[in-house]
Amino acid sequence: MKSLLVRFFLFSLVIAACSIAVTAWLASQATTGTIRQEQGEALETDAQIFDEVVKYAATHDSWANAQSEMDRIARQHGRRIALVDRNGKKLVDTGDANSPQLPITPKAIVDPLNVDGKIDARAVGPFKLTDEEFRTLHAYARQLTACNPNIKIVDAPNGRPRLSNDQPGSLSVWEDCTVGDRLYTLTATETAAYEQLQKLFADCLAKLPGNEHVMNKRPGFVTFDWEITTVRDSSPEVGACMDSARRTQLEPYVAGPAHLYLTSTTGEEPRSIDLSTTGVTRITLVALGILALAGFASWITATQLVRPIRALTAATKRTAEGDRTARVDGGAGEIGELAKSFNAMSEKLAETERQRQAMVSDVAHELRTPLGNITGWLEATQDGLAEPDPHLVGMLLEESLLLQRLVDDLHDLAQADAGTLKLHPEPIALDDVVDQVVNAQQNREILLRAATTPVNITADPVRLRQALGNLVANAVRYTPPGGEIVVRLFQDQSNAVLEVADTGTGIAPDDLPHVFDRFWRADRSRSRTTGGSGLGLAITRHLVEAHGGTVSVTSTLGEGSTFRVELPL
Ligand code: ADP
Repeated sequence: MKSLLVRFFLFSLVIAACSIAVTAWLASQATTGTIRQEQGEALETDAQIFDEVVKYAATHDSWANAQSEMDRIARQHGRRIALVDRNGKKLVDTGDANSPQLPITPKAIVDPLNVDGKIDARAVGPFKLTDEEFRTLHAYARQLTACNPNIKIVDAPNGRPRLSNDQPGSLSVWEDCTVGDRLYTLTATETAAYEQLQKLFADCLAKLPGNEHVMNKRPGFVTFDWEITTVRDSSPEVGACMDSARRTQLEPYVAGPAHLYLTSTTGEEPRSIDLSTTGVTRITLVALGILALAGFASWITATQLVRPIRALTAATKRTAEGDRTARVDGGAGEIGELAKSFNAMSEKLAETERQRQAMVSDVAHELRTPLGNITGWLEATQDGLAEPDPHLVGMLLEESLLLQRLVDDLHDLAQADAGTLKLHPEPIALDDVVDQVVNAQQNREILLRAATTPVNITADPVRLRQALGNLVANAVRYTPPGGEIVVRLFQDQSNAVLEVADTGTGIAPDDLPHVFDRFWRADRSRSRTTGGSGLGLAITRHLVEAHGGTVSVTSTLGEGSTFRVELPL
């Protein structure tokens, strides 16, 4: 979790997941809601149209004059209504010549004698009261309500007024208001219709097998739902007889069954759903909420991220201004790594700075002595205290040669530092180089000898002579008279090995790590007598490394030292 990358990745993932989830949820909510609403509205409209069409069929004996009424219904609901009979003959169509073809399947079948298996109550047929009977019964109804104000009167579909809460067999609710008896007496029209129904019913029962229906052949209670109720409960067959009797009786009075087609006036079906304004407020609120959440989380993450970066910037500024002590604690993760790198760089800078200062002071120190000597001698000569004889000139020459060597060494080192030290490699016999160096450094007081095997190598002979010369010169310098120096050359695996072993003063173990440092000497005061600048080993190491080799030293104080150079073949 410390990694910036991981944190950012997880954070983006969470935000994306939240957004997707909420968007999906809102979209599904809005869509289902709208679809449900639209569907509900459409269904309701169509149900209303169906009901009105059924009503027309129940109260008219044919579709012949239905056009104007259907036009009215169609206009009211903004739909196109078409009715087609069983043979496919178009009975009614509220569409015009431009209207598209009707769909293949009708919306419903309009049959007042079979609406979900039941006879529509508005199909009253021969039960319809005459105007005379209608007036008489309503007069009774008014008297009854005048007698008992609690009584509520409603009209049945055939025009008969009746109590809103009447139940078959419980009609004596009026007690003192005897006019109720007259209201609930069948009219001539109703009696005739019931008799007809009774006959049709009896005919049907007679056709049923067995005698178990004989009991039911007698009429039961007459209800005002235009059927004879007591038979209903007997058996399904008897109920079916009642239904068929009623259908037979009503058939001449109702319009025949027809297929009902309902389409939009333009023929486009279904209507397209417009979601553009659905739940705009809700979506906006949720979006704002997510935005706020994402903003807050981003702010927190960004602050955490920026804090170490700010610290780094401040530290970098201080470093640029020369402060080498600036350090940053960047914690873990990528920024922590950056902080560590910065700290390392800062330390390296400080180290380089120290080395540079030490170098300048060392150089000044090294130059001061020979220059002071030269100046001293020249002043003495000028003052007439010393004669410009060959001895004096020899001494001055020696000092200026010392200066010359020092400047040459410094130049080599500067070139090595800048990476501009040029090598001119060529195939050479290393044993020749060793012989040349040993011969050049021969000394009467010390036994200096070479022990070589022939080794050929590609290298810069001048630079190798310089490197080996430094080592041999040191050995001569730090080996007392009577000592011995051996320069060995042999091949070890893929390396050419040069060893300069002396029986000199040796180097203290504490000093060993420093011998290759610039201007380092085990005994600084000895430099004048021995003539060393303290740069020789540093230059040797640079030259050997420029050839891809290594140089190392082992030494025992008081017994001698061995410098070992390994060069890749
Ligand atoms: P210098 O010019 O003083 O010899 P170098 O860089 O060549 O400078 O050597 C650094 C120091 O390492 C010397 O001052 C000396 O103290 C030590 N040193 C080098 N070679 C030997 C050696 N063969 N025996 C003992 N001390 C040595």
